[in-house]
Amino acid sequence: MRLIYLDYAAATPLDPQAYRAMKPYFAGSFHNPSANYLKAREVRQALESARAEVAGCLGAKPAEIVFTAGATEANNLAIQGVMRAYPDGEILISAIEHESVLEPARLFKHQLVPVNEEGSVNLARLEKLITDKTVLVSVGLINNEIGVVQPIAKIAKLLNKLSNLRRNNHRPLYLHSDAAQAPSFVDLHAARLGVDLMSLNGGKIYGPKQSGALFVKAGTAIQPLILGGGQESGMRSGTENVAGVIGFAAALRSAQQRRKSEANRTSELKEFFIKEIKENIPHSVINGRDKQSAPHIVSVTFPGVDNERLMMQLDESGVQVAAGSACSASSLEPSHVLSAIGLSDALIHSTIRFSFGRQTRKDDIVKAVKLLRPFVAVH
Ligand code: PLP
Repeated sequence: MRLIYLDYAAATPLDPQAYRAMKPYFAGSFHNPSANYLKAREVRQALESARAEVAGCLGAKPAEIVFTAGATEANNLAIQGVMRAYPDGEILISAIEHESVLEPARLFKHQLVPVNEEGSVNLARLEKLITDKTVLVSVGLINNEIGVVQPIAKIAKLLNKLSNLRRNNHRPLYLHSDAAQAPSFVDLHAARLGVDLMSLNGGKIYGPKQSGALFVKAGTAIQPLILGGGQESGMRSGTENVAGVIGFAAALRSAQQRRKSEANRTSELKEFFIKEIKENIPHSVINGRDKQSAPHIVSVTFPGVDNERLMMQLDESGVQVAAGSACSASSLEPSHVLSAIGLSDALIHSTIRFSFGRQTRKDDIVKAVKLLRPFVAVH
């Protein structure tokens, strides 16, 4: 049985180019990049080329890249790092942020910015919520459950405007974006997006898991969370995960190079999937869908169906999907994302996320919908 994997928003297989690039750093070039002999200096050089490569993808300077173990850590560093620098400040986050933004924000004075029924941040509400005490606004670029793409550049313009109006205020007004789901489809040029901080994740872009980075614009006040030997310019101590960093850089370059063609191909697959779902399962509901949504994620509610059970039935039939929020897939709490766009708890527990990637083919979709249909039929 050929397995049909429709959970690319949870994990992606390693890009062969990334794998090849990483291999030498597991054994032959295992040296500590902080050591001073020739072989170690070569490893340091490879690490710094990877940093330059990542910076190049974002139109940033190498010194603005801090390598982290994935997006959870990058989000924690962005939020806790800035908020610790401004202990009397406040943070605003969208109501549909990933837990790795939500949970650190809860440690500080915070407010949630509501979204509309498609999941898009309400700019007027955001403007009203910003006070003299706000130091950080965090809005994810692509939501991992419903695929909504947020208007980050517009948010950046708004923050700039409000920042310029601030008088006698020592606090900055920074914009952070969790871009973990974005690099395969979206231009990540930091200045065009207007972000001060941006989180990236290797494990969602055909790079190794536990790899990623935080972009920190030069001049941004931020404190490190992990203290020790002072690696990553003091922003993240600990011997660098050299192979991981190199694999991440190769994966990011490859994702950005092919992003236009991948976006087109995946969008077509998504449209085809939605058409198949609507034709075959007319009582199903597609969530949070608008012109702006990401090409690889579709959230579908099958009213009356238990999503955990459906996920298992599909798994037994060879189709892998996510029930609820896949990044915390074992949680039985109803998803705060689906709740924020207006779904009842009952509908949330009837919702499945399908996500597509490089190996997804049209016939996988035809087959998946065919297998899905009898499990969700209304009796
Ligand atoms: N942010 C988003 C939008 C995600 O989809 C994920 C995925 O789990 C994360 C952050 C966390 O990534 P990781 O668990 O790899 O650190």
